Amino acid sequence: MLNFDYQNPTRILFGQGQIAALAPLVPQGARVLMLYGGGSIRANGVYGEVMASLQGHAVLEFGGIEPNPTYETLCKAIELVRSERIDYLLAVGGGSVIDGTKFIAAAALLDEDPWSIFEKRAANVTAALPFGVVLTLPATGSEMNSGAVVTRRATQEKRAFASRHVFPQFAVLDPTTTYSLPARQVGNGVVDAFAHVMEQYLTYPVNAKVQDRFAEGLLLTLVEEGPRALSEPDNYEVRANLMWTATLALNGLIGAGVPQDWATHMIGHELTALHNLDHAQTLAVVLPAMLRVRREAKRAKLLQYAARVWNLVEGDEEVRIDDAIARTEAFFRAMGLATRLSGYGLGREHIEPVLHALEAHRMTKLGEDRLVTLDVSRKVLELAL
Ligand code: NAP
Ligand code: FE
Repeated sequence: MLNFDYQNPTRILFGQGQIAALAPLVPQGARVLMLYGGGSIRANGVYGEVMASLQGHAVLEFGGIEPNPTYETLCKAIELVRSERIDYLLAVGGGSVIDGTKFIAAAALLDEDPWSIFEKRAANVTAALPFGVVLTLPATGSEMNSGAVVTRRATQEKRAFASRHVFPQFAVLDPTTTYSLPARQVGNGVVDAFAHVMEQYLTYPVNAKVQDRFAEGLLLTLVEEGPRALSEPDNYEVRANLMWTATLALNGLIGAGVPQDWATHMIGHELTALHNLDHAQTLAVVLPAMLRVRREAKRAKLLQYAARVWNLVEGDEEVRIDDAIARTEAFFRAMGLATRLSGYGLGREHIEPVLHALEAHRMTKLGEDRLVTLDVSRKVLELAL
């Protein structure tokens, strides 16, 4: 096992009815800004529940944070935070609203151009406004981690940062808020969480036994419960299991003491920035191709994955690896996502611009062993056609 330094300060309130319990977690006397997306929380009643719970607090609101939140919109929120002397933020929504809130929290206290957070890899983030989360979409793990991804529309860039100053103070996870998700977002969430586990698990072995078994437990739960969320959308236990699984997939626990890959996510971010694919759609395309191209570097773990997640234990090793990757891909399709670039109208001519963007963002040595060069990324994208 590798050395690690692990701390996760986010308090979790889990279960039906827990939105009503959030008020004491927001400081009395704070000037609160509630942030949300395009209006799903008004349609499903979450907006009303949160407002009812916050009665007695001074609450302003900022709606309209887009999926793949844009720098342009978030800068408007930063202005509002400053002009209204806001001192507490509450993100209500999915990963986009939460990530956007993290960026606002850090940028509002910064004396430089907010974009410098990405250029400086967050080295200039030394404080942030405190904030809480009400999660409505199990997917990103952003509700219990310190990462955020922001898109700059003007330059077609999608960039990530991480800082321990942007862990949420608390997150409310009420599975009933997810009943209203469209099937496309249910599928996206399951595939994103699956990819998060794979980026931390499917690398090379370091004898981290409990992390491996946690990771396999999360993958098995996604494989079992993901399709049920589509076929039984009102099943509370299914929704509850998926919600907690997605959080655990990226809250640092399974990533402690193990090598981490993230090449699939970095290539995926460029595809979203250039072509506006949903985040999980990019992962469904890139991950299977990445596993195929990197099968020698990942060989031991691919065999373990084949055995423990897909029960492939007999016969030729090469065939077992092929089968495990094919089943991964079939699972993504069963969740409603296309797994080839062509499924999203993209062809060979779209590969070169992705490689240019990776180069511009210094993403030329990706993967757990830094061996995913631009040439390797090209092979992955070609295989994903
Ligand atoms: P999202 O972009 O937050 O939301 C997608 C769509 O789902 C929106 O249209 C949203 O509508 C809708 N929605 C959310 N909750 C709903 C509900 N309960 N009922 C009905 N509709 C609902 O999706 P996401 O997958 O959670 O977040 C994706 C973003 O997170 C990407 O930018 C991705 O790069 C990033 N990400 C971050 C991390 C991290 O660690 N921080 C990890 C992976 C990905 P409204 O706008 O109306 O709410
Ligand atoms: Fe992700």
